[in-house]
Amino acid sequence: MNPSSMPPPLLTDTIFALATAPQPAAIAVIRLSGDAVPGVLQRLTGGLPRARQASLRRLCHPDTGQLLDHALMLYFPAPHSYTGEAVAELQLHGGRAVVDAVLACLAQQPGCRQAEPGEFTKRAFLNDKMDLLAAEAIADLTAAETEQQRQLALAASNHDADGGDPDAPATLSGQIAAWSQQLLHSLAYVEAALDFPDEDLPQDLIEQVRPAISQLAKDMTDLLTQSALSEEIREGFRIALVGAPNVGKSSLLNQLAGRSAAIVSAQAGTTRDVVEVRLNLNGYLVILADTAGVRPRPGQLEGEGIRRTRAWAQTAQLRIFVTAPPLSTAISTALSNAVSNPLPAALQALRQPHDLLVLNKADLLANQPHSSPPQPAYTLTLSAKTGLGITDLLTLLQQQVQQRYHNLPSHSLSRARQRRLVERSADHLHHSLTAPTAEIMAEELRLALRSLGELLGKVDVDQLLDVIFRDFCLGK
Ligand code: GDP
Repeated sequence: MNPSSMPPPLLTDTIFALATAPQPAAIAVIRLSGDAVPGVLQRLTGGLPRARQASLRRLCHPDTGQLLDHALMLYFPAPHSYTGEAVAELQLHGGRAVVDAVLACLAQQPGCRQAEPGEFTKRAFLNDKMDLLAAEAIADLTAAETEQQRQLALAASNHDADGGDPDAPATLSGQIAAWSQQLLHSLAYVEAALDFPDEDLPQDLIEQVRPAISQLAKDMTDLLTQSALSEEIREGFRIALVGAPNVGKSSLLNQLAGRSAAIVSAQAGTTRDVVEVRLNLNGYLVILADTAGVRPRPGQLEGEGIRRTRAWAQTAQLRIFVTAPPLSTAISTALSNAVSNPLPAALQALRQPHDLLVLNKADLLANQPHSSPPQPAYTLTLSAKTGLGITDLLTLLQQQVQQRYHNLPSHSLSRARQRRLVERSADHLHHSLTAPTAEIMAEELRLALRSLGELLGKVDVDQLLDVIFRDFCLGK
């Protein structure tokens, strides 16, 4: 069967799901969406509640009459709902048995089934309540762990229509839609030059659109560059603790994790050689990693750990190089060695301008009455054991994170899918500018437009184009 002639399977059933966190909790919300919703509400409560008004109802099993719960209900008739379908929300007492009983009862109702993950939002997209970018932003919003992630996701969703630059589209979707319009306009000119060469059209029609296309390609490239920062905010600012074995990297990680305002979670990294801790530093997600100690001549197994350490540290946004005076009796000699050659040569290559170099185990030096003061080569002297300097280090880290992200653009692409499509669109625009013929130029513009359409989840470009092109010709 031709796939396009098949009914959209997702839209035929009425779906339901628990929308709140697992029980027990004070309240549990079950959400329903689909054509069967009014009938289900009638059967379970004996009538339809008033639209968009909270109503307290007895919820009974329609077959047995058994009382399931007293629930506060909200009913949103189609199409004025989140999904565009009839939607109901049942606020139940948040006990496990209550929720189970209601879910089981709903599953028995004709045409009803449990929703798949994300299916409500998928329906909202399929029913044109939102585009793909907005749907992705909602997924980001529910997954947001920190304040900055929340702000980023909110800015990308369709709920921030107020505020910001009044001349700029309020959302990323708006920005992409505006670009699509500009591109359609350019394409219409090129198509006109192609299709109506004998009509009374200016000779340099194609030349007229070139500046607009170049500008658009530049705007896309700018967005891609700026978005790399937003992506980092979503994924987390990565800090690697790097240094020789036994300088106190693990101890420092524990100190920083213990001192920071909130530990999001602690988990082993993808390798057993890199341990990652997720911190919330001033609203930014920070991933702090304790990496395998780097020695000049490691064994084979350790060598693999070091290779992974390097890979992690190289792609991190910041490296903290940890050194410590060797535990030798000649502390003053050790200190001068540490100062003159503070990093193993194997690590020097990883160092970048903003990286930090700290001297740990400063408590050992403090015991030496004649020890030299710390040299300026070190960003800080610390003691992971006593906590000395840890607050200063956290302050420095906060400053680095804030400096990096303080000037974020209003729009940004938050996913690989989005970046790939904007890159592709910009590539096609560049190709269009160097196209040897008007036909190829038009095709490249069409492909650029198609990528933008895919970004929003709308790829019926030809249909749109028909409309615009017809207007263009009529208007001329
Ligand atoms: P790593 O191999 O670099 O991760 O080092 P560890 O954190 O495992 O520490 C190695 C040893 O140094 C342990 O015995 C720690 O207790 C000790 N250590 C770590 N930090 C300090 C410090 O600031 N002062 C002192 N005196 N000992 C420390």
